[in-house]
Amino acid sequence: MRVTWIALWNRNLAQLEIAVVGAGIVGLANAWSAAARGHRVTLFERDRHAEGASVRNFGMGWPIGQPAGELRDIAMKSRNCWLTLSHEAGVWVQPCGSIHLAHRADEWDVLREFHAAAAQAKIECELLDAAGVLSRSPAANPDGLLGGLFSPTELCVNPRRAVPEIAAWLTKRYGVRCEFSATVTGVDGRAVRTADGRTFSADRTIVCGGSDFQTLFPEVFASAGLRRCKLQMLKTVPQPDGWRLGPHLASGLTLRHYHNFDVCPSLAALKRRIAVETPELDEFGIHIMASQNDAGEIILGDSHEYDAEISPFDRSRIDELILRELRKIICLPDWTIAERWNGVYGKLASGPCLEATPIPGVHVMVGTGGAGMTMSFGLAERAWRRWDEDG
Ligand SMILES: Cc1cc2nc3c(=O)[nH]c(=O)nc-3n(C[C@H](O)[C@H](O)[C@H](O)COP(=O)(O)OP(=O)(O)OC[C@H]3O[C@@H](n4cnc5c(N)ncnc54)[C@H](O)[C@@H]3O)c2cc1C
Repeated sequence: MRVTWIALWNRNLAQLEIAVVGAGIVGLANAWSAAARGHRVTLFERDRHAEGASVRNFGMGWPIGQPAGELRDIAMKSRNCWLTLSHEAGVWVQPCGSIHLAHRADEWDVLREFHAAAAQAKIECELLDAAGVLSRSPAANPDGLLGGLFSPTELCVNPRRAVPEIAAWLTKRYGVRCEFSATVTGVDGRAVRTADGRTFSADRTIVCGGSDFQTLFPEVFASAGLRRCKLQMLKTVPQPDGWRLGPHLASGLTLRHYHNFDVCPSLAALKRRIAVETPELDEFGIHIMASQNDAGEIILGDSHEYDAEISPFDRSRIDELILRELRKIICLPDWTIAERWNGVYGKLASGPCLEATPIPGVHVMVGTGGAGMTMSFGLAERAWRRWDEDG
């Protein structure tokens, strides 16, 4: 018995050489989980800095979008990780909460049903009448406003700053080695090879290449039920005089996007109404959200185009529709658009992400869809606990 315990103890202490491919949020989360266990970690990123989905998003930590149960728990664990990063790494993290606005009767019906279900599931949220919404958000359009659902759990980060700051903190705090401008072209379970001809030994490799399904293990991705999704986004100039949005805002259109609202009987009627009234929104998967970063800029979006629909070129029609719908529900002091861009993420058809082990010593974690900023830290920690148990 004593020998068994010593063996277990030694195994727990074993310091491994870990390679993480991709310095987006999923790669950073895995690097953190590995480094916190005492492993030696090298993070490989093909670009000079991460430039993928993780720096192109709203910066919303959005637990309210996850269904009650394990997924919500993972989102809340990730939330705690963001707060830790705020305290320990100085990353700007604002616990701003969120409001889903209702300007139509069917939207209000869905919010009321969700609120009742949330109480049973012990999810904290509050139904606000129009005056209550306006007291929390100066941006809500009072015209036709029926009310809103406030949730206190949402966070705001500035992804363009947070992602490089986390990488730098991992190096400073844990000695994580970052190899930027290093495309990984081969992984065999013992070593990682980069395009410039270098070889790095690795006891375990975690492939977190985002929406790149071609370079490594394409056969795994081809059979996994992954889709690529392109989103168009806009950003305003900084709002004047320190004006703040308050909580993240989402419209009634968002109710048909996140699965947490699937429990609401009125959702089907809301979806039918939108399909009949504004089919152009369904055509481009448009729903409406707004967040505000530390520079005072408002991040606005978004649309969803999948796989063969994805063009390298953006459609101005989509931007016009997003802005048309936004102006129905929010009022901003300054609507001047400073930037437009798109982002592409990989999404697993079912489940929060694809986790696979294509060969011994190599794990894949991709496909976090529209929730990578919300879920990645919790997903990585869950995976590392499992790998610890498996030895
Ligand atoms: C417009 C938009 C808005 C979004 N809004 C939100 C939001 O508000 N909240 C939320 O929770 N989620 C949001 N998401 C989703 C979230 O951004 C993604 O789920 C998440 O960023 C995916 O992270 P990732 O690390 O898997 O991918 P990425 O960020 O794409 O990172 C993958 C990295 O791997 C690198 N790489 C790939 N292959 C190799 C290789 N062979 N060698 C070396 N490096 C490699 C790439 O260069 C890239 O930097 C949004 C996504 C988009 C596109």
